[in-house]
Amino acid sequence: MSQKDSIEKYIRPDLTGFGGYSARISPDTLEGKVEVPVDTIIKLDANENPYGCSPAVSKALASYDEYYVYPDDGQTKLRKLLAGYCGVDEKYIVAGGGSNQLIDLILRLFLNRDEEVINCVPTFGIYKFSTDLCGGKLVEIPRKDNFDIDIAAVQAAVTDLTKVVFLANPNNPTGNIISEVDIRDILGTGVVVVVDEAYCEFSRQTVVPLIEEYGNLIVLRTFSKWAGLAGLRVGYGLFPPEIADYILKIKIPYNINAAAMVAVEASLKDIDYLESMVEKIIDERERLFTELEKISWLKPYPSQANFILCKVEKGNALQLRQKLQEKGILIRYYDDTILRDYVRISVSKPEHTDALMNVLRNI
Ligand SMILES: *Cc1c(COP(=O)(O)O)cnc(C)c1O
Repeated sequence: MSQKDSIEKYIRPDLTGFGGYSARISPDTLEGKVEVPVDTIIKLDANENPYGCSPAVSKALASYDEYYVYPDDGQTKLRKLLAGYCGVDEKYIVAGGGSNQLIDLILRLFLNRDEEVINCVPTFGIYKFSTDLCGGKLVEIPRKDNFDIDIAAVQAAVTDLTKVVFLANPNNPTGNIISEVDIRDILGTGVVVVVDEAYCEFSRQTVVPLIEEYGNLIVLRTFSKWAGLAGLRVGYGLFPPEIADYILKIKIPYNINAAAMVAVEASLKDIDYLESMVEKIIDERERLFTELEKISWLKPYPSQANFILCKVEKGNALQLRQKLQEKGILIRYYDDTILRDYVRISVSKPEHTDALMNVLRNI
C-alpha cells in the first residue's frame, strides 16, 4: 500500500468525491495568456467594487499600530457599529470572515447528517458547497422562467427533515428580487429562512425590520460588495438573539481580524462617500443594460444588484468568455443544466463598460 492510500482511507467517505468551489481566477495567473498587460485587466467576474474601499479605510489601516494584539473575540465594538448601521439592537448581530463563513456556521449549527436544505436554483454556489460539506441533503427547487421563486413549490418541499431555506435577495446570478410578501409566506413554514442580502445596498430592499417579528429569520450582509472590502473578508448576520449566542459560541475564536475591524469602523464613518459610489454603480448598471440590449445575440435580464445576467443566444458562453479574456476582460460564464449558455457581467466604471461594448460589437 502506498503512503497516499494509507492516509486517504481515513477521509470521510462522503467527501472523497467533493467538488469544491470554483473561485474566480486571479489576474496574476493570466500572465502571457492575454493580449494585454495583466495590470490592465478589467475584472467583471466577481461583483467587486471598481471604486475600491473608502480612502478613509486605507488611512486608518496605515496608522493602526496594534496588529500584534489578538482582536476582540466577542466583537463588542464591531457588533455595536453594525447594529447602528442596521438600526437594531446588537444582540441580533454576529460578524463572520465574509458572510460565507456565516453560511457555514448556520449549517453546522442546524444540520444533522442527511437533513435537508432547500435551494432555489440557479443561485449562489456556496449554499450547495456548505450543505455538501456539512453532510446535508440539498433539495433544489427550480425558479420560474423569469427566475422568480416558485413559492408554492418551496412550501410543498418542506418536510420533517427540512432545516434551512436559502433565499438570496437580490439573487446571484440572476439579479432579481423576492417580494416581502413571498418571504413572509416562506417564513410561515417555520423552518430557518436565511435571506442573503449581499447586494441590498444596490437594491435598497431589506427584511431587517422583520427580524424582531420572526423567530426563524436570519439576514446575511457583507462588506465585500458595496463597501469594497472583499479582500478583508468581513460579513455579518442578524439572528434571533438566542441563535446569535450559539453562533458566537461555535465560531472559531478571533474570526474577524484586527484589520477588518478597523476597516469596518472607517467605512461606517465614511458612509456618504460609499453611498455616492453605490449611486454611480446603479447609474452605470442602467446604462450597461441599455447597451447590452443593443447586442442582437445577447439577452440581458433586469438586475437590482451590481451585475447583469445575459443569455448568449448565438454561439456559446464559454467561447464568449474566452474571447473577452484574450482582450483582457474577465466575466463569469455558466454552462450547466440549469443555466445553459449564460454569462454574468459585473457593473464597473463607465470606461470599462465602453471597453466591453467595443469587444462585443466586434464579435
Ligand atoms: C458575493 C456574495 C456573498 C458575499 O460573500 P462574502 O463571504 O461576504 O464575501 C454572499 N452572498 C452572495 C449571494 C454573494 O453573491
